[in-house]
Amino acid sequence: MTAVAVIGAGISGLVAAFRLKQAGCRVTVFESSDRIGGKLRSGTMDGLRVDVGAEAFVRRRPEVLGLAAELGLADDIVSPLGRRPAVYADGGLHPLAARQLMGIPTDAPEVSVPLAWNRRVDVSLGALVRERLGETVVARSVDPMLSGVYSAHADDVSVRAALPALAAELDAGTQSLTAAVQRVLDRSTASGPVFGAFRGGYQDLLDALAAQLEGSILLNAPVPELRSGWMLRGWWFDAVVLAIPPPQVARITRTTFPRLAQAVAGIPAADSVIVTLRFPDSVEFPDHSGVLVASGEILTAKAFTLSTQKWGPDVRPGPMVRVSLGRLGVSRIVDEDDATVAEAALADLQTVFGTTASPRSALIQRWYEGIPVYVPGHLDRLAEIADATPPGLVLTGAYFDGVGVAACIAHAEAAAAAVLEHRVAG
Ligand SMILES: Cc1cc2nc3c(=O)[nH]c(=O)nc-3n(C[C@H](O)[C@H](O)[C@H](O)COP(=O)(O)OP(=O)(O)OC[C@H]3O[C@@H](n4cnc5c(N)ncnc54)[C@H](O)[C@@H]3O)c2cc1C
Repeated sequence: MTAVAVIGAGISGLVAAFRLKQAGCRVTVFESSDRIGGKLRSGTMDGLRVDVGAEAFVRRRPEVLGLAAELGLADDIVSPLGRRPAVYADGGLHPLAARQLMGIPTDAPEVSVPLAWNRRVDVSLGALVRERLGETVVARSVDPMLSGVYSAHADDVSVRAALPALAAELDAGTQSLTAAVQRVLDRSTASGPVFGAFRGGYQDLLDALAAQLEGSILLNAPVPELRSGWMLRGWWFDAVVLAIPPPQVARITRTTFPRLAQAVAGIPAADSVIVTLRFPDSVEFPDHSGVLVASGEILTAKAFTLSTQKWGPDVRPGPMVRVSLGRLGVSRIVDEDDATVAEAALADLQTVFGTTASPRSALIQRWYEGIPVYVPGHLDRLAEIADATPPGLVLTGAYFDGVGVAACIAHAEAAAAAVLEHRVAG
């Protein structure tokens, strides 16, 4: 029987382990912390389960819904009520363009000169959008969206890695950015709600995966160094799936696989803090699902999810608000103490919503190196990583093909398939 070590029990490691176990491998998952889930983490507030890491998933991709159905959780999936998000800019709330791709609208006026696009070069979304549609679109639409997804500014995010379909359209010769965006959107046949969540938080999914992997997960079991030959913590393995974030990959491969460590270390990761607040019943918020913050605003927060209004009072009783703070290279709010973090969140709530009420409960969760940022050149970096990865080792995680939970599941399933191919080849 093929013995496989999976390092990291976030969603990527758990899914890879689940698929490998289903395929008949003997799987051991090594997790450094005392819990599974990584960035999927449900806390408790007033007896309610609340996600303090990821809270939603893209429902228009099949992976999360498929996995949930397979694990008997189809009835636990909930959809947003349909309220729209707004953008906070110049002291007011503005609607987000209805038709847009990562904040790039289809109806913004564009410069008339044909787009100069180089197929061999990667640029940032900020540079591309600024040149074609102007700074206001970057600051008020693209930056707020990217801050939500990557905790980073548009100038730090690669067009080719973050929006490969758009890059392909421009490679094919489309000379207007809005026309290219329009074509990408037109090709999508997806319908129905864009997002979904688990009624009882991501803990529902984690519990179901843990049940499938019973006896295979070792907690408080960090792998400090990866050595070839695959002996980990006293056991021998035929293959290893490395499902930990880039900074940790770099740390554990530094001595034995320095080329791999160097390539992975070049991927930056953004720190962030999530502050979840529950207010007295009398407190009201505007009729939106949430608010994204335009760049240049004097706020520490980058986004507010109005959770009760987004998911409904039966799913997220409230009024509950989730404040996200921290962007790559902008603020070190993550290093401040709890009182300072809470104060910053409340001050921003007052600025944006005029809310002066004190919350009845609060939860603060810091995420150091939480989200990998796909900076320009990211795809070259991934090619270097592939080139430096020895046989028998398979890497997976949010730095490959999308940071969202659905994308992580897809990549982890591909990683498991690669291990099985290696087994056949070996
Ligand atoms: C604040 C925040 C909000 C987000 N919101 C959303 C959202 O709403 N929707 C969405 O789709 N995505 C969201 N994401 C992104 C998504 O949650 C992550 O990209 C995804 O969960 C990453 O999963 P992973 O398994 O690849 O890595 P992780 O979750 O980082 O898991 C890695 C695991 O490896 C362990 N580990 C590390 N080093 C070692 C070692 N040496 N030995 C053993 N174990 C080790 C860690 O303890 C951890 O448990 C969010 C991310 C953050 C940070």
